[in-house]
Amino acid sequence: MRILLVGAGLSGAVIARALAEAGHRATVIDARAHIAGNCHTERDAETGVLVHVYGPHIFHTDDEGVWAYVNRHARFRPYRNRVKSTAQGAVYSLPINLHTINQFFGRTMRPDEARRFIEAQADTSIADPRTFEEQALRFVGPDLYRAFFKGYTEKQWGCSPADLPASILKRLPVRFNYDDNYFFHRFQGMPEDGYTPVVASILDHPGIDVHLDTPFVSDMAARHDHVFWSGPLDGYFGYDLGRLGYRSLTFERFRATGDWQGCAVMNYGDPDVPFTRITEHKHFAPWETHEGSVLYREYSKACGADDTPYYPIRLVREKALLSQYVARAAGTGNVTFVGRLGTYRYLDMDVTIREALNAADAFLHAVQANARPPVFSADPA
Ligand SMILES: Cc1cc2nc3c(=O)[nH]c(=O)nc-3n(C[C@H](O)[C@H](O)[C@H](O)COP(=O)(O)OP(=O)(O)OC[C@H]3O[C@@H](n4cnc5c(N)ncnc54)[C@H](O)[C@@H]3O)c2cc1C
Repeated sequence: MRILLVGAGLSGAVIARALAEAGHRATVIDARAHIAGNCHTERDAETGVLVHVYGPHIFHTDDEGVWAYVNRHARFRPYRNRVKSTAQGAVYSLPINLHTINQFFGRTMRPDEARRFIEAQADTSIADPRTFEEQALRFVGPDLYRAFFKGYTEKQWGCSPADLPASILKRLPVRFNYDDNYFFHRFQGMPEDGYTPVVASILDHPGIDVHLDTPFVSDMAARHDHVFWSGPLDGYFGYDLGRLGYRSLTFERFRATGDWQGCAVMNYGDPDVPFTRITEHKHFAPWETHEGSVLYREYSKACGADDTPYYPIRLVREKALLSQYVARAAGTGNVTFVGRLGTYRYLDMDVTIREALNAADAFLHAVQANARPPVFSADPA
């Protein structure tokens, strides 16, 4: 069969590869001038630093199959994400751990003492937290909430934490030991030469053609037996029911000499600092040596028609609109909506790969059974 994959990110590449290996002909298009979608990395011409063009990406997973898959396409180096936060005139370790607590409150508590201390800070009058703010106050109390959650969340989401659902802060966001590894996953690492070579290797198959600088136009669908769409779900329908809400990011790029901030990611929690974080890209590849440095100041904003959609908002208004688009999608003939934009969900890279492998499998089974392939790679609701 002739299959069209819209988007040369991880979703499009992984599905194209699986279908090409099964003997189908896969054409991958992307509106951008490069492959790898939002995971794209490229070297800065002046400094040689490997830059995560659309923001920092760290690979972490518990999925052994996905870990084996990416390791077939690149050499991964061990990498632990250790984030710092500048707040109220000091630098702290994140996620909030025993070091953060002891430093913030000027104490030398052991784990059990700290647990009791934080419990005493928590606002126990909130029996059933409904909002993000209530949840945070219930978990950590007002001081840690103000320093590490309130300002950061306001900047990131453009609204008060009192207007966000409690579900965003699901678990107690505090560790009562000195573990500052941002992720819990068993497998964590960084591809030695960045993510774009990983995707290039996935796409490197005689059954796959790639066309960059090629936005989708509707008559392309008619020339193919099936379309996998990893662009925005609402974009497929020309946004004719309205736009699904996203937050977008702006990166203010600057260069420096030597080591500018001493770590890869520094968050800024204070409300009067307009950016959310600064990323120093050379620290994502500590095995490399560069005299110069490349940094991003990251600002969050509402996503306009000409902006890149990053984080789906998924509040009440968006969920209502989403269900209308889901109904529209069910009426399409030969399209499967995949990936983070096609299913309007935040997806980490490992989940993206797992869902793409499953989508390719489901497609191959449907073809064999002469049935309609699934409309979505995963339920957008
Ligand atoms: C700021 C940020 C940081 C992240 N950090 C991490 C992290 O640390 N770890 C992690 O595991 N995950 C991270 N992620 C998630 C990761 O980026 C996604 O899992 C991954 O990019 C999803 O791949 P995708 O192929 O579904 O989508 P994308 O990478 O967005 O690819 C979709 C592609 O479709 C193309 N396209 C869209 N519309 C059209 C059209 N009409 N015609 C042609 N082409 C089109 C786009 O140009 C794009 O290249 C992060 C995401 C963001 C936003």
